[in-house]
Amino acid sequence: MNAPLPKEATESAANMYERVSQNFNEVAGKLASRLSSETQGEVLFGAADRGRYATDASIYQVKPVGVFVPRSAQEVPIAMAICRDLGVPIVPRGGGTSQCGQTTGAGLVIDHTKYIRNVLEVDPDQRTVEVEPGIVLDHLNASLKKHGLWFPVDVSTSAQATLGGMAGNNSCGSRSIAYGNMVHNVLGAKAWLSDGTPIQMGSFDQSTGRAKAIGEFVQKLALQLKPELEAHWPKVLRRVAGYNLDIFHNQNEKPYTGDGSVNLAHLLVGSEGTLAMTQSLTLQLSELPRAKVLGVVNFPSFYQAMDAAQHIVKLGQGRLTAVELVDRTMIDLSLQNPAFAPTIRTALIGQPEAVLLVEFAGADKASLLPDMRQLVELMGDLGLPNSVVEMVDEAPQKNLWEVRKAGLNIMMSLKGDGKPVSFIEDCAVPLAHLAEYTDELTQVFKRHGTKGTWYAHASVGTLHVRPILDMRRDGAKRMRRIAEEASALVRKYKGAYSGEHGDGLCRGEWIEWQFGPQITQAFASIKQHLDPLNLLSPQRIVNPPKMDDTSIMRFGNQYQVIPIQTALDWQLWNVQNDPVTEQTTEPGTGGDPAQGFAKAVEMCNNNGTCRKFDAGTMCPSYRVTRDEQHLTRGRANTLRLALSGQLGQDALSGEEVQQAMDLCVGCKGCKRDCPTGVDMARMKIETTHQYKSKHGFTLKDRLISHLPRYAHLAALFSSLLNLRNSLPWLAQVAEKFTGLSAKRSWPTWHSDHFFNAETQGVTREHVLQAAKPVVMFVDTFNGYFESENAFAAMRVLKAAGYSVHVASKEGLRNETGSRHLCCGRTYLANGMVDMAREQARELVNALLPFAEKKIAIVGLEPSCLLTLRDEALVLGLGDAAQVVSQQAMLLEEFLARENKNKQLEGLKEKLNAAKHPILLHGHCHQKAFGVMSPVMEVIGLIPNAKPELIESSCCGMAGSFGYETSHLDVSMQMAELSLLPAVRAKADAIVVADGTSCRHQIKDGASRDAIHVAQLLSQHLM
Ligand SMILES: Cc1cc2nc3c(=O)[nH]c(=O)nc-3n(C[C@H](O)[C@H](O)[C@H](O)COP(=O)(O)OP(=O)(O)OC[C@H]3O[C@@H](n4cnc5c(N)ncnc54)[C@H](O)[C@@H]3O)c2cc1C
Ligand code: SF4
Ligand code: SF4
Repeated sequence: MNAPLPKEATESAANMYERVSQNFNEVAGKLASRLSSETQGEVLFGAADRGRYATDASIYQVKPVGVFVPRSAQEVPIAMAICRDLGVPIVPRGGGTSQCGQTTGAGLVIDHTKYIRNVLEVDPDQRTVEVEPGIVLDHLNASLKKHGLWFPVDVSTSAQATLGGMAGNNSCGSRSIAYGNMVHNVLGAKAWLSDGTPIQMGSFDQSTGRAKAIGEFVQKLALQLKPELEAHWPKVLRRVAGYNLDIFHNQNEKPYTGDGSVNLAHLLVGSEGTLAMTQSLTLQLSELPRAKVLGVVNFPSFYQAMDAAQHIVKLGQGRLTAVELVDRTMIDLSLQNPAFAPTIRTALIGQPEAVLLVEFAGADKASLLPDMRQLVELMGDLGLPNSVVEMVDEAPQKNLWEVRKAGLNIMMSLKGDGKPVSFIEDCAVPLAHLAEYTDELTQVFKRHGTKGTWYAHASVGTLHVRPILDMRRDGAKRMRRIAEEASALVRKYKGAYSGEHGDGLCRGEWIEWQFGPQITQAFASIKQHLDPLNLLSPQRIVNPPKMDDTSIMRFGNQYQVIPIQTALDWQLWNVQNDPVTEQTTEPGTGGDPAQGFAKAVEMCNNNGTCRKFDAGTMCPSYRVTRDEQHLTRGRANTLRLALSGQLGQDALSGEEVQQAMDLCVGCKGCKRDCPTGVDMARMKIETTHQYKSKHGFTLKDRLISHLPRYAHLAALFSSLLNLRNSLPWLAQVAEKFTGLSAKRSWPTWHSDHFFNAETQGVTREHVLQAAKPVVMFVDTFNGYFESENAFAAMRVLKAAGYSVHVASKEGLRNETGSRHLCCGRTYLANGMVDMAREQARELVNALLPFAEKKIAIVGLEPSCLLTLRDEALVLGLGDAAQVVSQQAMLLEEFLARENKNKQLEGLKEKLNAAKHPILLHGHCHQKAFGVMSPVMEVIGLIPNAKPELIESSCCGMAGSFGYETSHLDVSMQMAELSLLPAVRAKADAIVVADGTSCRHQIKDGASRDAIHVAQLLSQHLM
């Protein structure tokens, strides 16, 4: 046994953070200055930057000294050396999606995600790849697809988790029963020790130098502790606590290497950044499964589902890849969601209390069908005949996996201070005891006045469960009591307390409980041997804090919200909840001094889904900058810090908030894609209002905001105003005064436009009596700048036999065009909420009589029409806004609805066949409201039309955003992410885009004329 940890090292472990924080200014100043002068990396030491990196997906918050974003791997050891000189701890970080506080610490956070994310070498024959630590799993797998390979540790956070972070936590995927954990799939690691020594960790037999010495040191410890390892080490696949001392005396269900040899890289896996800084990882790849089948087993009781898991895992002879649980609560949540209900119904037989998703994968479907038959037979033998829904085709399987993921997301969106808290959510127990364990733990929750929803990895005895606790009140105390009782169960059933998400701040104190004092001491010796300076993430794994130390919690005892007067109504979030029934109190009763705004902001639990790059809209500004600041999470954290006084006085209207919000394009991508529904677009309106109310409005703000009011007059001077687009010097002058880029063309004014045209449909009285009535709300943009769209919509609706009335202001019939109504969007975009309210009220009042008669109100511009279903409801306009919102729909939504009701047979007969391919780009607000399928459906009314949806995020124009000089580059980068390349790639296609901004961006960026769907339909009318 190694000598105990030297006294100095123990002391420094406990005091390291304290010492640094006491001398914060001096240390931080030196650190920032040296990092800036000795590297090219990004040095982020502002209060908001530090705040944004103080949290991860855990309940903890510890402010770092600063943040360093190295531009290359070579800059990492330089930063480490500077930290060494100054005695500053180092906290390595990937996507920051850890659930236990692994990436929070009062040192220098080194963020690997922006630049250190390359694939260094792929060897398809050997099925290996060497990667830098900042690469995201999905990005790696996308690059491997062409080789028919993948890295199979498929964590649920695959779209944002990095390989460095996955190795740090010894992460595990849904298919670990087939592929093992991270430790089973890492072949080698290059790393730096805290003293600057580069090490190469791989096969122990072939190791040399420092790596060899480390191996021998750990080997000696393991051999000395053999009896301890045998007595205390959990014998399950899913044990991730502590260091992997058992590499020298395997205790895992699945040996770490195929041949039983020792790989020293496995010592670093799961070490949570405490032993060495990873430079690169060599990974074992697997063949992409060519075929999969899914059996969904329906159980009348949760207990039976848990009990059956031990038998199911014996099926498949290596082809079983997953057994995942969805419980009744999750089923109900999915059934309540219109998007998921049809899918989950396909998986249900009757009213099961739980279902298990049993997946087999192999070379072809035919070879998997016998596995499915065996599953059916097994269920019959277990007394559950006819309980399996057999899904052989890919599409239904894929849909069901999506629902399984989304169920958790819906669960996390519970409003109020009680939240599902992650702290015992990955205990792993042997399958034979899974039923008893889950049953007894459910009783524990009941005793403590809460409940948990169960889901995930039944195949390996790791079921996720998060009891609902209020961490601002008695949550910490209850957390400890539940943890103590849960740990007793884990011990009773010989399981692992930490089975997937690591130790961090939350489970470190349970290491000694799990392994006993001698193994714990051995962990300390390993730490001392590799990091004698205690620089790397001190107080993690060795000398950890108490899990319920509220001084290191995000909503600890210091947390308070500053009272503010909000411009929008946020009271829907201002509620409390019942942890057992999950019922929420009435809006406005939650006790939020910020009138619900703080609680809306606090919905962000830092899970990091907004860092994804795959389908969906969220978050375009992150996708082009890769900056935490320009990420939905970064923004929500900045707002939380400002609202709780952690960024100083009046921070909500201060520069740090303004900067964080600057590149938010208000696309509403997060409103839909964020698991907890963080609606940053609405928050941008609120913060812009708060900022501008204090600092004043610019000429550009006024020019854009008041456009709907002066458009009718401006149209009279169209030739003069259009000179701006033809005379470059005039564009320059305009740029100087307005901040709108001279490089952009402005929309063209027309003296003849929709609003002063003669034929505008039937009268108000007529439409109220008509058999097929419809009311058109024509917005400023389609009315003045692109009248052809409004005319086209009218033509199509008339061709379909509708009596069309154009909504307008009452009593102004003789004026030149000021009768047009406006939703207030231009005012909202610039934070002029009072003006927006005035406009929206006028619109709502004008539309109310039609809405009350349930006449559809149809609009063309997504951002304008959908304002009626979104912001107009939080402007204090009362019930009228609700009534109108229920009838407000986009043209395509209306046509799709009418088509379903067989009202468009006449129109369909009048449509010519399509002659060109059709590309469709969705406006972000269309996507946010889930109304892209109606556009596809309506285009499909045209014979021969096969519309292709471009997988794109925001086009980057976003109202006036892309016109502004300061945003031009970012705007174009957003467009270049996918939209413009897709448009260029199909030169002969008609491009359909319903958003006026989108059409401009496509014109400016790809020199192509995109058209509104109304135009497309109109052009195909015979
Ligand atoms: C909703 C949700 C679902 C999740 N599902 C799963 C799941 O299915 N399976 C699972 O295992 N986990 C899951 N997690 C936890 C988490 O996503 C994973 O552990 C993930 O692998 C962490 O990756 P990251 O890039 O965010 O790492 P981070 O959180 O940034 O870091 C993780 C650890 O690695 C260390 N580290 C990072 N980079 C380096 C480096 N270069 N050198 C040394 N150390 C480094 C950090 O210091 C830290 O200790 C989930 C989390 C959430 C919020
Ligand atoms: S904004 Fe939403 S997606 Fe992003 S971290 Fe917060 S909760 Fe997750
Ligand atoms: S509104 Fe769009 S740009 Fe703004 S945070 Fe949400 S996803 Fe990102």
